[in-house]
Amino acid sequence: MVVKKTTLKKYKSKRDFTKTPEPTGNNIKKSKDPIFVIHEHQARSHHFDFRLESEGVLKSWAIPKGPSTNPAEKHLAIQVEDHPYEYKSFEGVIPEGQYGAGPVIIWDSGTFKNLKDDSLSKCIENGSVAVWLKGKKLKGGYALIRTKFRENKDWLFFKMKDEKADIKTDIQKEKPKSVVSHKTIEDAGRAPLEKKVERKKK
Ligand code: MN
Repeated sequence: MVVKKTTLKKYKSKRDFTKTPEPTGNNIKKSKDPIFVIHEHQARSHHFDFRLESEGVLKSWAIPKGPSTNPAEKHLAIQVEDHPYEYKSFEGVIPEGQYGAGPVIIWDSGTFKNLKDDSLSKCIENGSVAVWLKGKKLKGGYALIRTKFRENKDWLFFKMKDEKADIKTDIQKEKPKSVVSHKTIEDAGRAPLEKKVERKKK
């Protein structure tokens, strides 16, 4: 799939790749099924970033309250700039002074199926997305519905009613760790300090 050159302009303009360890967006995707990833990000304010692959990039939403397995919990999701496909593997600490400074972990990842007949990009354009997630934590149907607030930037993200819905589990509390490094967001934020302490001991 060819990545439109213009789509990552905003992503690139916000970042200094000589200073941040985040991906540059110059590599192209290889895997077959569309992927999703949820980053937990302790920036100035704590949030989760939900990203869905579409046309070679990751369409992205920042969700302050994060995901829930309970269909009754509909959480605000703010659409943000497209991220490069390689961002799916990014975990680390964005340095002080850089855009989004703070630790990032891969809270969940996997593949998804578009539940609608239209292409995902068309669904996003129409403001109504329904996907079946096959993640390590999140499973089943999830929806993103655009609201009319704040120039159409605000969406609602929620679990759809199906056999994977679960009103009893607090998934964020029960499964807080990165599916890659098994660090919590607190561990990820502390890591650089611990390294300095270790070095002093030697
Ligand atoms: Mn973020």
